[in-house]
Amino acid sequence: MQTTFTPAQLADPHVAESEAILRKCVHCGFCTATCPTYVTLGNELDSPRGRIYLIKDMLENGRPADEEVVTHIDRCLSCLACMTTCPSGVNYMHLVDHARVHIEQTYRRPLKDRLVRAVLAAVLPYPSRFRLALKAARLGRPLAGFMKRVPFLKTFGVMLDLAPSQIASASAAAVPGIRAAEIEKRGRVAILTGCAQPVLKPGINEATIRLLTRLGVEVVVPQGEGCCGALVHHMGREEQALVAARRNVDVWIRAADEGGLDAIIITASGCGTTIKDYGHMLRLDPAYADKAARVSALARDITEYLATLDLPRQEARNITVAYHSACSMQHGQKITLAPKVLLKNAGFTVRDPAEGHLCCGSAGTYNILQPEISATLKARKVRNIEATKADIIATGNIGCITQIATGTAMPILHTVELLDWAYGGEKPALPQK
Ligand code: SF4
Ligand code: SF4
Repeated sequence: MQTTFTPAQLADPHVAESEAILRKCVHCGFCTATCPTYVTLGNELDSPRGRIYLIKDMLENGRPADEEVVTHIDRCLSCLACMTTCPSGVNYMHLVDHARVHIEQTYRRPLKDRLVRAVLAAVLPYPSRFRLALKAARLGRPLAGFMKRVPFLKTFGVMLDLAPSQIASASAAAVPGIRAAEIEKRGRVAILTGCAQPVLKPGINEATIRLLTRLGVEVVVPQGEGCCGALVHHMGREEQALVAARRNVDVWIRAADEGGLDAIIITASGCGTTIKDYGHMLRLDPAYADKAARVSALARDITEYLATLDLPRQEARNITVAYHSACSMQHGQKITLAPKVLLKNAGFTVRDPAEGHLCCGSAGTYNILQPEISATLKARKVRNIEATKADIIATGNIGCITQIATGTAMPILHTVELLDWAYGGEKPALPQK
């Protein structure tokens, strides 16, 4: 794609990077076929190619974002299916990240949107605030129906609907410290405890720590780590995201320097995609560029790391698992085989739902900010999963777990919960077989 940025514009490294990305696009349109919003809405402006044109026009003309650009960029799930499909290697992720920052800096959203986004950014990344908000949401839930009918309150009504009816108490898995290997030590890792996940499903990190220590891996829960920054990063709140990234980089570099680390284990693939991008996010910060690149190189999804441990094959179980590959797993991190191979080796029969490349509509805060498109995608995903006639759904991302669970009666677990059980851990809640 030809571009006409001026030398003065290209002096801005963010613009220069976006220009290099834009020049790679040959407008072939292959990406439109796998884009969930184009497949759902059928509008070229809700396709990757259409969004690329909108971003190019906005940046090239040095214009503030307008309502049209904001509408179509906001509808993008950042699922990155387009990057998997693109034959030209267009880095849509970095382009849309730049567009979102530009929108945040140049566009004044309506009051209601500003309020909702401010609440999400102030609550979700902080486990204690999030837990408190969920408790309050439980009390407010009877008002959800009414709120969804009042335009100004609609999004808050959607939030109340999404809040789980049961809230687990804080887990010991999140307490900083070292969990010793139970057999001869063969590795040492740090684990990201995260923000929303330990509140919504603390059992995931508990299963991870149990499994790793049982397999001879020492697990460090470092003091001071927090949200990876993905939630605010996807809202274009870059300064807040970079503060989170720098804090985690400091914490993990200290842990690596103190006792050595083979990996930083991440159990939510949405966080994994962002942490693997820390090197890029902090590339212009001389004090952090090298450290952030080191952290990104150490980041591993739990299934990626387990695949290196050569786990023994287990006896077959009479349980069929529909594996839902989160977008951040398959498109963001290109991890497609490891989770399924691990589950098969652990004795489960694994089935792939049709249209596995399409997002379930969760996408961070997307199911709150774009509830209609999100609900359409969820219904499509659930139909495909239920058609497998599997006993359980497994996936590697808390966002997908929360989203899909609200659309089906099938039990849904994190992949690591099944693996922990298969290798000697507690049996998770499963259908009777
Ligand atoms: S597939 Fe790649 S090159 Fe083709 S239009 Fe989409 S982004 Fe551009
Ligand atoms: S990230 Fe997903 S929703 Fe956004 S343009 Fe690409 S394929 Fe479409």
